[in-house]
Amino acid sequence: MEDTYRHKGMRRQLVEDIRKKGITDEKVLAAIGALPRHFFLDKAFEELAYEDKALPIGQDQTISQPYTVAFQTVLLDVQKRSKVLEVGTGSGYQAAILALLGARVYTVERQEALYKQAKTMLDRISPGNVRCFYRDGYKGLPEFAPFDRILVTAGADAIPEALLQQLSPGGILVIPVGTELQVMHKITRQADGSFVDEEKGFFRFVPFVKGLNRD
Ligand code: SAH
Repeated sequence: MEDTYRHKGMRRQLVEDIRKKGITDEKVLAAIGALPRHFFLDKAFEELAYEDKALPIGQDQTISQPYTVAFQTVLLDVQKRSKVLEVGTGSGYQAAILALLGARVYTVERQEALYKQAKTMLDRISPGNVRCFYRDGYKGLPEFAPFDRILVTAGADAIPEALLQQLSPGGILVIPVGTELQVMHKITRQADGSFVDEEKGFFRFVPFVKGLNRD
């Protein structure tokens, strides 16, 4: 694992690309600028790692486009020490971004091969700040609930009730909802337990699938 001047240069360019697309949160931009995205990809994609594109990570899954990672992270509004549940670990890149922002991250993945690979990388990159679980994210992570923030990084056909229930008062759930194309929802749990639901534009994610997969 090497992070060269060339990688750093490409990463600075990526940050400028994302800034031009409308991301203004300096902390989020700094995290994208600091984290070597090529560490989370197969060697074959090293040259493409700093393009603003989703890329394959095996098991028919993708690492999200950096703009999308930044957009979801801004909506999530993590604070230092926020307790965050991520559903869809995938490569582990988004979890590492949340850890860089000071969050205590719990991340769940339904594909065992991806879970193992991401855990190995996250134990190196974000030791102590990210805990990985091989789980069905539809059920959340009840034994660690409630969470200040919940982030779903796969396209859901509906908002899982378990995730709403695992949100603390004042907590925020960011989740893309839809089948072909998804609408990004930001759902805030009010002090009285009710929810405020805001829609934040269209995105395209791999599907949120029920149950575990061992392939
Ligand atoms: N956040 C990831 C993006 C991964 S793509 C990253 O930074 O790389 C979405 C991931 O969600 C896929 O790996 C997919 O296997 C996973 N996923 C889909 N349905 C799931 C479920 N029910 N529980 C947990 N993970 C799920």
